[in-house]
Amino acid sequence: MKRRWPAKSTLGYTAVIVGCFALGMLAGFTSFANEVDSAMYDWMFRLNPPQAASTQSIVLMIDDPTLKDLGGIRSLRSILAKALSRISTVQPKLVAIDVILTDPGDPSEDERLENALKATPNVILATDFSNDAWEDPIPGLRRWAVAVGTTLADEKSLDGVTRQIPLEEAERRERHWALSLEAFRVARGVTRILETPDDLQLGSTVIPARRKDNRPLRIRYLRDRSPALSLKDLLAQRDVIPTVSLKDLLAQPELVEGFRGKAVFVGVYSNTAARDHVVTPWGGHMAGVEVNAQAFETLQRGIFYVDSRNDTMLAFCIAVAVCAGLLFAVTGGWITYGLAALLLLAAHTVPFLFFHRGIVFPYFAPLSSAWLTVAGAAIYQHFVVRRQLFKSEDQRTRYRQAIHFVTHEMRTPLTAIQGSSELIGRYNLNDDKRKQIAQMINSESKRLARMIQTFLDIERLTDGQIELKREPFDLKEVVNSCLDRACPIAERKHIALHVDGGLEGSVRGDRELLEYAIYNLLTNAVKYSSSDTEVLISTRPGGDQVRLSVRDQGMGMEPKELKKIFQKFYRTKRAEASGEQGSGIGLSLVDQIVQHHKGNMEVTSVPGEGSCFTMVLPAFSPVKVKEEAGSLMPSRDR
Ligand code: ADP
Repeated sequence: MKRRWPAKSTLGYTAVIVGCFALGMLAGFTSFANEVDSAMYDWMFRLNPPQAASTQSIVLMIDDPTLKDLGGIRSLRSILAKALSRISTVQPKLVAIDVILTDPGDPSEDERLENALKATPNVILATDFSNDAWEDPIPGLRRWAVAVGTTLADEKSLDGVTRQIPLEEAERRERHWALSLEAFRVARGVTRILETPDDLQLGSTVIPARRKDNRPLRIRYLRDRSPALSLKDLLAQRDVIPTVSLKDLLAQPELVEGFRGKAVFVGVYSNTAARDHVVTPWGGHMAGVEVNAQAFETLQRGIFYVDSRNDTMLAFCIAVAVCAGLLFAVTGGWITYGLAALLLLAAHTVPFLFFHRGIVFPYFAPLSSAWLTVAGAAIYQHFVVRRQLFKSEDQRTRYRQAIHFVTHEMRTPLTAIQGSSELIGRYNLNDDKRKQIAQMINSESKRLARMIQTFLDIERLTDGQIELKREPFDLKEVVNSCLDRACPIAERKHIALHVDGGLEGSVRGDRELLEYAIYNLLTNAVKYSSSDTEVLISTRPGGDQVRLSVRDQGMGMEPKELKKIFQKFYRTKRAEASGEQGSGIGLSLVDQIVQHHKGNMEVTSVPGEGSCFTMVLPAFSPVKVKEEAGSLMPSRDR
């Protein structure tokens, strides 16, 4: 079957897909999305550890035991001097000191440190922008350093995990590169860093780092450091950055060999000072000075993680949304769901594939837009398109019912017309007889036309195609007309039709439809009663309502049957067994007609004793209508 795809539903469908897509993209900007992206980054990071390669750096840690042995943090400058004089003997490639030396200290200590710096080549000192000022080292120390670098951590990280560091920091007209970048520059023997808006170039190494966000560098952390080392371990280390406590270095002089030719990162790390701890994507803690060494190793290896371009991400999300939309529009059944599952799988795996190639793709936005568009498309197809199907199914059922009605209800008058016309053709009839038959044909065809009209009117009313007529009329006229028509049928069965009272009461509505309904109740009463019984028709006006009842002494119905008699095509077992012809549609039309007149049907019945059908309709009162109209007329006094 060819699927119809009218323009209106295409527009609606497109709107749903676009809406879901936009919602998915917006969701990508929430803090929850940021959390998910970060968690996924860490997971993918752990799945893709850096390739094994020998490291160029070593960390010399002034830790708690060192501080305890060498006079505490107050003697930091003498401790640094001691460390420098110990390692300068083996000519390290460079020494980066992650300690802020901005305040003048004890003059003798400052002098000791100055002398040690003088004797150590390629020293890089640290600075920081804090409290609105740069914390540069005091000039006496600064003059012996080849460079000064910043030691900022990932300040934009919402969860405290340091995934990247800024390589550039410009404040108050002063610009500094990161300590690790300066160390890398010195290690490479490069004097100038070439800058473009998107990257930095040092010799042959191009570092992708946008100027816009302070040139962030994602650190490819090596695995957690190993525990205490012997010299042998120290020299054999690959894939980790060795860390040596100054206390151990002083106690085991042979360890100094591990510093030969290396980039040494010196820093303080106290277990008790929270600000010294940095959390990494590996999940563990690390000293701030080690982060510098890790960043240095990342630069040294030259393999970087870069953020995907925004337009690439957007193009991918749009492609997924379009695929989801087309999928549900073009295909159908399980294939659609299978392909949708594949699409979602693709949306889940693409960030992994990108990450494997060094491109950091946001995880949440593509995923949320993929899920939302797939769900939106599925729901739309399920409910809206299904509803269209149901509608056409409903139309087909009603068409079938119409055919059913025609075959059942119209058979009787058609048979009468057919028989009469045959009589005229076959026999030589006198004028009186011919006139009588012609009259019968005329009245039966009129009845047929009325029936068709009634049926069509109800169908159109139900469809909302036409409005109910709102003419006022007395029930008496309509009931009498029905009685005239039903009399011959009742007489044939010797059933007496009685009228109780003066048939008072007026209603407003469609006279023909109500006549059809009352006639139906009357003929049913006659049809489902045995000979020599009575049918009583009465009206009871009272208040806002008028009640019209048709009571018979016929076969009656079971209580559970009463609930179903207004359903189309329902017939009771007794009615079927009685041999009386019927389609089971009459009462359903009666019910609809009464409902369209804002009324309702009441039925009471006792099997074998009889039934009473009551039509309850809103009463028409000419006085009330006049009053209502009067209240709407403009008053002369006003
Ligand atoms: P039809 O009379 O063509 O079968 P209706 O819709 O008029 O269809 O009535 C539905 C069913 O309700 C009838 O088949 C019959 O079983 C039951 N019924 C209607 N009127 C009476 C009545 N006065 N007494 C007993 N049963 C009735």
